[in-house]
Amino acid sequence: MNFIFLGPPGAGKGTLAKEVAVAYAIPHISTGDIFRENIKNGTELGKKAKAIIDAGGLVSDEITIGLVKDRLSKDDTKNGYILDGFPRTIPQAEALATFAKIDAAVNFDIEDNAVVERLGGRICCKDCGQMYHVVNNKPKTEGKCDKCGGELYTRDDDKPESIKHRLEVYRESTAPLIDFYKGKGNLVDIDAKGSPDKVLEEFKKKFPKN
Ligand code: AMP
Repeated sequence: MNFIFLGPPGAGKGTLAKEVAVAYAIPHISTGDIFRENIKNGTELGKKAKAIIDAGGLVSDEITIGLVKDRLSKDDTKNGYILDGFPRTIPQAEALATFAKIDAAVNFDIEDNAVVERLGGRICCKDCGQMYHVVNNKPKTEGKCDKCGGELYTRDDDKPESIKHRLEVYRESTAPLIDFYKGKGNLVDIDAKGSPDKVLEEFKKKFPKN
C-alpha cells in the first residue's frame, strides 16, 4: 500500500514509519531525512535548505515536489511506500496526485501540549535518525544510539523558538490536508498519544498485512 503519514511535528510519524517500513517491507521516505542527509553532505540542496529548516519554515514546494517525484520513480517503491512529512501543503498534495496513487492518508491525532513536550526532549541519532526522548524513551547509554552506536543530538529545529514556529506552520499550511484527504475518502485517524508499541498495534489492526 502507498501511505502518507500526516500530523504535527512530534506526533510520532517518523518513529512509526521506521517500524512499519520493517514490518511491511516497504520503504520509509522522509523528506526531512532527505534534507538532513543533504545538509550533512554539504550538497547544493542542503545549503539552500539549511537556514529554512533550522528556523522551522518550509522548503519551497517546487524543490520538495521534484525530490519526491524523483524518489517515487525508483524501483523499491513498486510494492508500496510510506511518505513521512510529505505532502505538507495543498499544492504539494495536488502535485502528488498527478504522479502517485495514495491508498491511505494516516492522520496522527495528538494534542498540542503533548507535541511540545515530546519535541522539547527529543534527541536523534546523527547516523541512523533513530529518535529518543530524554525522559520518556531514554537510550540505554547516554548520548549513544541503541541501534547503531551513533552520537545523539538535539535537532536545531527542536529548539523552543523553532518548535513554536513549526506548530504555526503546521496549523496554517499542513492541517488543511486533513480535510483534503477526508474529501478524497482516504483519511484514516490514528490515536498518536500512546507509546510507539501501542500506535504500531493500532496501525496493524487498521491495515492488516495480506
Ligand atoms: P521533519 O523531519 O518531517 O520534521 O522535517 C524537518 C524539516 O524539513 C521541516 O520542518 C521543513 O523545514 C523541511 N521539510 C520536510 N518535509 C517538507 C515538505 N514536505 N515541504 C517543505 N519542507 C519540508
